[in-house]
Amino acid sequence: MIELRSDTFTLPTEAMLDAMRHAALGDDVYGEDPTVNRLEDRAAELLGKESGLFLPSGTMANLTALLAWTPRGGRIIVGDESDIYCYEAGGASVVGGAVYHPVRTQADGTLSLADLEVPFEDDPEDPQFAVPALLCLENTHNRCGGIPLPLPYLDEIRRFADAKGIALHMDGARVFNAAAALDVPVATVVAAADTVQFCLSKGLGAPIGSMLVGPRDVIARARRLRKMLGGGMRQAGLIAAAGLVALEESPARLHEDHANARRLAAGLSSVEGLKVHPVHTNIVFFEVLDPEYPWRRLVAEAAAVGVGIAELGHGRIRAVTHCGVTAGDVEVAVERLAGVVGVRG
Ligand SMILES: *Cc1c(COP(=O)(O)O)cnc(C)c1O
Repeated sequence: MIELRSDTFTLPTEAMLDAMRHAALGDDVYGEDPTVNRLEDRAAELLGKESGLFLPSGTMANLTALLAWTPRGGRIIVGDESDIYCYEAGGASVVGGAVYHPVRTQADGTLSLADLEVPFEDDPEDPQFAVPALLCLENTHNRCGGIPLPLPYLDEIRRFADAKGIALHMDGARVFNAAAALDVPVATVVAAADTVQFCLSKGLGAPIGSMLVGPRDVIARARRLRKMLGGGMRQAGLIAAAGLVALEESPARLHEDHANARRLAAGLSSVEGLKVHPVHTNIVFFEVLDPEYPWRRLVAEAAAVGVGIAELGHGRIRAVTHCGVTAGDVEVAVERLAGVVGVRG
């Protein structure tokens, strides 16, 4: 099976398994797991923020950030194509009594300043309105094709957030892919954001876990929220050890995944009947042009020949490259998909 459904399918490397075997452990709810503490410090240092928090998932990392910034009845401004809005089961409303204000997502993953003005047109002194508390951006933007947000745009949004007195959270599940694509340190990519969530378990290749980084007081609130949500883990150094290896070893190899994504896109572009979207990082979107050939059938037939792909909104099919996929695998996947699409109808 050539698994292109997601970069979450990566398996731990030998170095990660070794680190897990030898990790110093303690009870992290007591703050006494030395490996977790090291990971939290290292993540904060790498991203240029004060403090870090290790969580079981990106969803919980985003949720604790949203709740840490937003009082009950507060308004959270999100993109309508964002993971936070589309795929996280409305957690901040369910658990935190907050209101999501979805803003139209532009094709490049940005939210326009004009659209962002709308939530602020409501008078905060008027008791009818939920008061904006937090603005969220996604980087890279998954449903927009793994696109990194431009650095000048992020600066502009920082100035906007300052002018409005609102906090900025970055859902940076794949922010290391953004840094690799822009060829800048990850701290530069997240400089505009107050808090950042990133996944250790995607392109970085660790089996489990996400980090939240940001100001010390906000991370302290997030730590309490993590416990409330049931995310306080005891000897979590076992999985944090793999995260530490991922942080040290994986960022430097992400350009290989990006090259493989470009290779995959080029291969699929030569298959008649497919339309391939531009590639920015490790995500390739494509569509079947024949309306008689539904994507469900392509996904099923691809699986039958050993290629894992999935639909990701608006009938587009997503293929994600990662450390478990080689350049050779990409060639084979293109051949197999071409074979499947070639016999359509
Ligand atoms: C995967 C992902 C998440 C959630 O991470 P989980 O660990 O799967 O909960 C959040 N945001 C984005 C953009 C993602 O791609």
